[in-house]
Formats: sequence, C-alpha cells, structure tokens
Amino acid sequence: MAKIVQEIKDALEFYLALGYERMPVQLNVDRRRRGVADKESSMVLLRDEIGDCRRCKLSQKRTHIVFGEGNADARLMFIGEAPGREEDIQARPFVGEAGMLLTRLIEKMGLKRENVYIANIVKCRPPLNRDPERDEIEQCRGFLERQIDIISPDIIMSLGRIAASTLMGNEKLKITAIRGKIFDYRGIPLVPTFHPAYLMRNPKDKWLTWNDAQKVLEILERGTQNQRGG
Ligand code: URA
Repeated sequence: MAKIVQEIKDALEFYLALGYERMPVQLNVDRRRRGVADKESSMVLLRDEIGDCRRCKLSQKRTHIVFGEGNADARLMFIGEAPGREEDIQARPFVGEAGMLLTRLIEKMGLKRENVYIANIVKCRPPLNRDPERDEIEQCRGFLERQIDIISPDIIMSLGRIAASTLMGNEKLKITAIRGKIFDYRGIPLVPTFHPAYLMRNPKDKWLTWNDAQKVLEILERGTQNQRGG
C-alpha cells in the first residue's frame, strides 16, 4: 500500500513540475481497452463518411482530401494546419518540404513516422496556401475530433499557431507564448510547438522545438512506466 501511495505522490509531483494544475484525466485509461483492429475499422468508416466532401468551399479547388495517416493506435499524434501543394497532390499529410522536416524530427525523437499519427485541422488545401478560414475549420473540426477520439493518443503535439488556437478554442493565442507548455485537450496533454514551415524560415528556432519534443518524450516515457507498473 505504501508503495502505491508513494507512486501516486511521485506521479503528482511529476505533473506539477511539468506545469499541470490538475491530473490529466485520460492518460492510458481508455486507450488500451479498445483493440487496434477496432480503431482501424473506425478510421475506415470515418473516411467513408467524409466521402467526396463538399461541406465547405475548400472542396472547389482541392485535388484530394488529405484524411491523415499513421497508426490508428498511436500514442503520439501530430496536428498541423492544412495540406499544402504536395499533400494535395499525394493525398498524404506532411509530404512536402515541411513534411520532410517533421519526419526528421519524429526520427530524431527515436520514433518512426508510421508509428505516430499525423493529421491537419482542415483536410483540403486552401488556395495558395492561405490560412484556413473559420467556417472551413468549423466544417472540418468534427472529423478531426473523431480521429482524436478513435486514436485516443497519450499526447498531442500541435504544429503552429492555427492548430494550437483551434484545439484550444482561442484565436488570440501567440505561438511564441504557448509553445512548449502543456495544455489539456479533453483530458489529453497537448504540447504546441512551431510549425515546420516556420522552422524552415527560422532555423535558429529549431532548438526550441527540439526542447518541446523532449518534453513530449518525457510524458510518453512516464506513460510507459505507468503501464509497466514500474
Ligand atoms: N503544412 C501543414 O500544416 N500540413 C501539411 O500536411 C503540410 C504542410
């Protein structure tokens, strides 16, 4: 009994040190209950439901819907803003230049791209890569929320201001002020960082994103220890 109490105390102190004011409620509780096959088939059904989507004006100019890709049972989920030119052609998220930088970050974290899940706030490319507009985000967000629910990741890393402000429901957020901090997204820890496209223009800030990634790894590692009971 004393060991359990000590473990709970250690865990609380750990989250306190990371800046949490209360325990994230969902960590590892439900995600293991749902089988991988169940998650994969839910993802296929969701993609079917989206169909040849015409729910917003982005559908008029897009080539392909970029649903998202990766492991439906991923512990880590990356959420970007919107597909760009290359993503629109290939129907895959983050496969252009910014995508190569994201893939390098994932690998530097000791992970494989196919083991995480990568999605965007909107699933169709905005013309000339403009920011997605509020009505477009609103039409699409329900689908992203359901992807998050299916995957039920241990942690989300959002990429750029638009992804963070959409998930946190606050358009006024400044990415420089919130990056690297840990927020709560419906019970899932959310760590915003810079968008890889920003880092391509400002390589001097790459180390900040690397710091944010370390924080994410720390939380993942902590979750692994909890699952092992160690
Ligand atoms: N930028 C994004 O935000 N998402 C992509 O998929 C590609 C570039």
